[in-house]
Amino acid sequence: MFDYLIVGAGFAGSVLAERLARDGGKYILLIDRRNHIGGNAYDHYNEDGILVHKYGPHIFHTNSANVFDYLSRFTKWRPYEHRVLASVDGQLLPIPINLDTINRLYGLNLTSFQLADFFNSVAEPRTGARTSEEVIVSKVGRELYEKFFRNYTRKQWGLDPSELDASVTARVPTRTNRDDRYFTDTYQAMPLLGYTRMFENMLDHPKIKILLNTDYKEIRDCIPHREVIFTGPVDEFFDFRFGKLPYRSLEFRHETRNVRVFQPAPVINYPNEHPFTRVTEFKYLTGQEHSKTSIVYEYPCSEGDPYYPVPRPENSELYARYKELAGAATGVYFVGRLATYRYYNMDQVTAQALTVYSKIRSGWVSSGSAARLLHLPLERGHEASLNR
Ligand code: FAD
Ligand code: UDP
Repeated sequence: MFDYLIVGAGFAGSVLAERLARDGGKYILLIDRRNHIGGNAYDHYNEDGILVHKYGPHIFHTNSANVFDYLSRFTKWRPYEHRVLASVDGQLLPIPINLDTINRLYGLNLTSFQLADFFNSVAEPRTGARTSEEVIVSKVGRELYEKFFRNYTRKQWGLDPSELDASVTARVPTRTNRDDRYFTDTYQAMPLLGYTRMFENMLDHPKIKILLNTDYKEIRDCIPHREVIFTGPVDEFFDFRFGKLPYRSLEFRHETRNVRVFQPAPVINYPNEHPFTRVTEFKYLTGQEHSKTSIVYEYPCSEGDPYYPVPRPENSELYARYKELAGAATGVYFVGRLATYRYYNMDQVTAQALTVYSKIRSGWVSSGSAARLLHLPLERGHEASLNR
């Protein structure tokens, strides 16, 4: 009899498998319907021997020392600060918008102080911006919003920014200095030998058994287990009882080019041209030396694997109904980006899983109670990661 059947071998499922087995001494069956571990963070060497991320670029960054220290047990790191250029008006310009973006876009020579004045002059003030349109227009005005955000967002989400929560575009800051890093977190690094190797180290324990190519529904009634940790889509778990929760999907077009370097930055965003949103060149991320280079194009779509929960009020309302069901489900914990319908980064999912483990271990989560739905008060140190 397994103590825990864990559904999904991504960050949520793997962190919990590791903690419950290594620290808790429990017997774990970890399953995934895909043919690999790592969830969306899975990477592998392609046929040309280049390390690529199957499900698009995954860049690790966090402000949480706890999360970074925990993952450091399973990997060494390669320092890496991510940079992105956006193709706008025939130029490749830094995004997040910074001093160089504006000076180059408009052929100006502003100082940081002058740029702050410029933003103030074009911004449309809003108190408490609620939508993804308002949050950008209230900082940099309508013209820059239209050049950098409106069309990218429409392509990525199939919705106008005015229909999405502010939290979506608020992920991208605006700067008046020349800092062109995509993230400013304290810890920014890539697993030295890749994510999959990190997951392999995490799951290398005699009390963890792994079953791939296996859907939860196929085995839930025939493999004895005490409790379930579910990290797949929450609506699917409940057979879409209240209807489908919208998730945004992507198609990835991977290509290898017979050149050392394909583009001048790790990622180039295309807000206004092409049906794809961005192109990533993996060698920048991994530091790999190779005579060829591999890239991936991301084409957003509504059908396909669920990659992004879609943050908007009606979806939150629908999720709230599933959350109530999840809270009442006996012996099942819902953890991760799909199961808690949160637009979480890898570090946030790790923090959430570590918090869930702490609650399970300390017995704070009593059997069958509503507290099983894990938006519980967080451990100190995980808060920084989750509240960004
Ligand atoms: P997942 O990784 O989705 O794992 C869930 C697993 O459950 C999947 O492998 C799935 O096959 C399995 N599963 C689902 N249902 C079932 C079932 N019924 N039976 C069996 N198995 C099932 N985060 C960052 O921090 N930095 C980034 O740069 C970054 N870039 C991203 C780029 C893209 C294109 C995407 C889509 C996401 C990105 N993320 C990034 C987010 C990151 O992928 C997630 O935070 C993280 O992978 C979530 O982990 P998870 O375990 O919750 O879910
Ligand atoms: N975004 C945009 N233009 C850009 C970059 C981002 O409009 O050049 C918006 C878009 O809505 C996107 C969101 O900001 O979905 C968050 O961007 P992020 O790079 O964090 O997206 P992710 O890496 O999660 O796909």
